Amino acid sequence: MQQGTVLIIYTGGTIGMVINPLTGSLLPLNFDQISEQVPELKKFGFRLDTISFEKPLDSSDIGPDIWIKIASIIKDNYDNYDGFVILHGTDTMAYSASALSFMLKNLAKPVIFTGSQLPIGVLRTDGKENIITAIEIAAARDKGKAIVPEVCIYFENKLYRGNRTTKINAENFKAFQSANYPALAEVGIDIKYNREAILPTNNNLALELSTEFDNHIAILKLFPGMNRAFIDSILGICGLKGLIIETFGSGNAPAEEWFLKRIRKATESGIIVLDITQCTTGSVILGRYETGRKLFEAGVIGGYDITTEAATTKMMCLFGKHQNSEDVKRDLNISLAGEITTL
Ligand code: ASP
Repeated sequence: MQQGTVLIIYTGGTIGMVINPLTGSLLPLNFDQISEQVPELKKFGFRLDTISFEKPLDSSDIGPDIWIKIASIIKDNYDNYDGFVILHGTDTMAYSASALSFMLKNLAKPVIFTGSQLPIGVLRTDGKENIITAIEIAAARDKGKAIVPEVCIYFENKLYRGNRTTKINAENFKAFQSANYPALAEVGIDIKYNREAILPTNNNLALELSTEFDNHIAILKLFPGMNRAFIDSILGICGLKGLIIETFGSGNAPAEEWFLKRIRKATESGIIVLDITQCTTGSVILGRYETGRKLFEAGVIGGYDITTEAATTKMMCLFGKHQNSEDVKRDLNISLAGEITTL
């Protein structure tokens, strides 16, 4: 394999859109039209290949089927490239990056998601710098090994672990945040890698791909004054296997008996209930307050500092992989791809 080979997978998103003069809305371009807007791509001293989705997608239309499609392209082309760049809409990029981090086991090469807030054809676009630097990071090697063998998001001068990110801004170029984990690289004149924060990898293990998802899950965001019928309708969803509760502060919920009784009934019936915090920063500690301890006693599992994006994709992936709910619980409690801080 020649040094410096990167495969770009173009899925869609604002980066490859133009304004339709008739309607004023954004429409997708194909990748050839995008590369015309970035002549710098020809200046890379290594091989760049592209696989484009026939119909570029707005990322709101991306879910498990497309995650499987992207991950399968990576697996099929794994031996032929040093790294992969996924051009993807920003809206659900954090979900896709999280999902891929759980699907690609023993990953030893960079998979870098990027996109932009302004289309590539717009003069002030943030897309050019994002694509160019993402490619450079995807190809970066040291002593024959990839510097960042992880699924990441590169956006506005920062490289983040994908399963630690959240989209936080619909307007600003700084669209992503990784509140509970440091950036893996900061980009200025040089690309400064934060080597201590990057996951170690074992190059000798073969890449394994999980392609099973089970979406019998739900998210319940708590708010003061919740209606009992609302909780009943969520817990009454036919076939529900997992419920993520977004709780207050360090994992707290109302201690009212009607609420706890319903949660206890759910866990006793086999539904896995995972407690994650509504706060952007910090972790769930179920024993810190009485209101959290009662949830623990009702059979709820603490989700540590996991993001909603990582929690939903991890749960769907685990329910797809394991038949036994004890295996799902065990894996929710450990870091599979650097998504939680357990210490
Ligand atoms: N709606 C677009 C998408 O997520 C937004 C973007 O690309 O930034 O596909």
